[in-house]
Amino acid sequence: MRHQSETIERPGQGIAEVMATARRRFDSGATRSLPWRITQLDALHRLLRENATLIEDALSTDLGKCPTETRLAETGVLLADIDHTRRHLRQWARPRRVGLPLSLWPATARLIPQPLGVVLVIAPWNYPVQLLFAPMIGAIAAGNAVILKPSELTPTVSAVLADVIPRYLDTDAIHLVQGGVPETTELLTQRFDHIFYTGNGTVGRVVLRAAAEHLTPVTLELGGKSPVWFDDDKHLDQVARRIAWGKFMNAGQTCVAPDYVMTTPDRVDTLIEALKRAVLDMLGPDAAQSPDYGRIVNARHHTRLLSYLEGADVAFGGQADPETCYLAPTIVRMPAPVPGASEPPLMSEEIFGPILPIVAMASSEAAIDYINAHDKPLALYVFSASRTTRESFVERTSSGGVGLDAPMLQAGIEALPFGGIGASGMGSYHGRYSFETFSHLKPVVRRSHTLDTLGFARPPFTAFKQKIA
Ligand code: NAD
Repeated sequence: MRHQSETIERPGQGIAEVMATARRRFDSGATRSLPWRITQLDALHRLLRENATLIEDALSTDLGKCPTETRLAETGVLLADIDHTRRHLRQWARPRRVGLPLSLWPATARLIPQPLGVVLVIAPWNYPVQLLFAPMIGAIAAGNAVILKPSELTPTVSAVLADVIPRYLDTDAIHLVQGGVPETTELLTQRFDHIFYTGNGTVGRVVLRAAAEHLTPVTLELGGKSPVWFDDDKHLDQVARRIAWGKFMNAGQTCVAPDYVMTTPDRVDTLIEALKRAVLDMLGPDAAQSPDYGRIVNARHHTRLLSYLEGADVAFGGQADPETCYLAPTIVRMPAPVPGASEPPLMSEEIFGPILPIVAMASSEAAIDYINAHDKPLALYVFSASRTTRESFVERTSSGGVGLDAPMLQAGIEALPFGGIGASGMGSYHGRYSFETFSHLKPVVRRSHTLDTLGFARPPFTAFKQKIA
């Protein structure tokens, strides 16, 4: 078992000491200054560029992620987020004037964005660099000290980041704590000013309970099943290519990946054929040989995914190699769900791997009812040539976000908030929304001494005051 002193980037410091160092640094006021925030963001930009190969290699070791995918979905996203934040930071950080009703005049009101203090970012393993640093960009931009807790399931990435972070970022304000459940559990006993957790709902509940102890505000970026509706015969091949891309990127281990596809019974076979063509087109006849296809993170998740395939009607794929945690892109035929009957794990649990069930549904109405009878998804995707159908899904279902005719894009646009709802999470981030998540928008009102109209609100409440109240 690892000693605590080996789990943090400053040997000799325990979690309480790391916390105290970060708190002292925040209390010194250094992190509030705009130049500090900009310097740190620039340093993170440099860290990502100068250590690109190191990061790509670490992701390849932990997840079999190919370097291009790392650049597209991890470091590239972060560099763009930093650029966007740098461009807008002065404007976001500026106090905002707020108009007041005539009845309060003469008075002024400002809304001042202030940093929260010391914040904790807990990240999962599936995009271990992006999901650790993206919240941190907002936290730094807002002027906070940050403690980072990467996932223990991607240890090479965690070790690389623990090594490079102190060489670029403010070592008093920004700390990385490595380790697993014991370290996260200890971190959660500390009094943070915000906790930003990305991962599964079970641990999300643990985080929320721990935060309640200190009344710490929490952002939960969770997962769940993201459904797809398909009835667009006109764009069949294009849709299949887009679904296959969204599903099989990172071997299906993406929180906003299409989880299962619903379509009418007469379309099931044609869609499966088109998906097969799309997979062959992307990854060739044997995805195991493709340098562009990832691996399952560990044996536990590999076994879990294989268990979903027991007794399943596999239409395509299914090949697996436990040695290398390989699981081929797999398409499974699912009968229409029977209301009230218990569902197989493929339909009741988040798949989070390269298995795509194609579910026969009587109609889009039945699909909407099915979605509404389950947890609110993080993402919902609709591929339909009918505007009415698309809008029915948008208006009559609730999800963190919606993608029409393309998956995943809604999660990667800095100008849009990204987050779940209900079981898929609470709170949101990206771009300005990250800045606001890690800021307190403090109202400051000044009522001048001229014209003391406030007397109307003070007793004694004469007949005249009662009349105008
Ligand atoms: P994980 O196992 O790496 O856990 C995430 C973090 O929680 C880790 O840092 C880990 O140390 C910590 N943790 C684990 N067990 C704990 C415990 N008992 N107490 C305290 N801390 C604990 O990652 P995961 O949860 O398997 O990640 C996959 C899930 O995350 C999926 O459900 C996926 O949909 C979701 N996800 C959501 C988003 C999003 O942005 N909404 C992004 C990626 C993943």
